[in-house]
Amino acid sequence: MQFTTTVPATIDLAIIGAGPHALTLTTHLLQKRQKIKGKFLVFDPSGRWMSQWEHQFKALEIPHLRSPAVHHPDPNAFALRKFAESRPDELFPPYDLPGTQLFEDFCQDVIRVWQLQEQVIPLAVKSIEPFSHHLRSRFRLCLQDGQEIIARRVVLATGNAQIQIPDWVNQIQTVYPQDRLCHSQTIDLRKLQLMGKRVLIVGGGLTSGHLAVGAISRGAKVHLMIRRNLSEKLFDAEPGWLGPKYLKGFFAQPDWEQRVTMIQQARNGGSMTPA
Ligand SMILES: Cc1cc2nc3c(=O)[nH]c(=O)nc-3n(C[C@H](O)[C@H](O)[C@H](O)COP(=O)(O)OP(=O)(O)OC[C@H]3O[C@@H](n4cnc5c(N)ncnc54)[C@H](O)[C@@H]3O)c2cc1C
Repeated sequence: MQFTTTVPATIDLAIIGAGPHALTLTTHLLQKRQKIKGKFLVFDPSGRWMSQWEHQFKALEIPHLRSPAVHHPDPNAFALRKFAESRPDELFPPYDLPGTQLFEDFCQDVIRVWQLQEQVIPLAVKSIEPFSHHLRSRFRLCLQDGQEIIARRVVLATGNAQIQIPDWVNQIQTVYPQDRLCHSQTIDLRKLQLMGKRVLIVGGGLTSGHLAVGAISRGAKVHLMIRRNLSEKLFDAEPGWLGPKYLKGFFAQPDWEQRVTMIQQARNGGSMTPA
């Protein structure tokens, strides 16, 4: 069989997904240990860094980030501010929130500076299984084109690869037009004609907010359905979660399920920014 991209038989570290989390991990690893260069590969079917992030921000017409300018994939917290020196209009109040294009350009610069362009293999990982190699424990990764690679370590940075559909959707008995009930992740505002349409948005997070603004600006009448009162917050979680104050306790927790609970409690459901 002919493969368009041939992968090596083994690799030290396989990172699955090429979004902002994978990019952040990669730059931090390289900063700590330059020797890791050439010892890791990143797998993403898009073949590019940040493709899902870029698509989602464009599809929802998000003008700027919710997080301030110090949160980005470069290990130097001030790197984005430095990059933005000639583009001050793209940092938005109240805490210098980076504009979407600015953040995208900055990430491309991070990729260039850290020489990571060639690191992404344009293939999805289909399965992972534990594998013993000369009595050493390894992982066997099966790729979408049938190739396999043995990895010493694997990082899953796949984001929300699986769309969460509430149970009640599957309980709908009557036939309905499938394109009228959709998940936010499959919506591209740029392709929608909504003049005079009525739209119900279920959920009270910032994604609902962006969708509502986008639909209203296209002439739709929008209803928001939220389980509780609309919660107004500048950030997803208390700023203490972005530093050692709360993260110390989080990293000290070895149980993954407990960690998920901690994340859910910290986020305390969806919220929207005052704007
Ligand atoms: C409306 C909205 C606003 C947001 N605002 C902010 C903000 O202001 N600040 C902030 O920090 N975050 C914000 N976020 C969140 C941010 O977008 C996500 O946290 C971030 O994109 C997650 O990064 P990630 O690398 O984990 O995943 P993603 O960006 O989703 O990347 C995951 C990648 O994994 C790949 N992948 C999945 N499965 C496989 C597989 N089997 N094999 C290979 N590759 C695979 C996908 O193709 C994708 O490219 C926002 C999100 C939304 C929806």
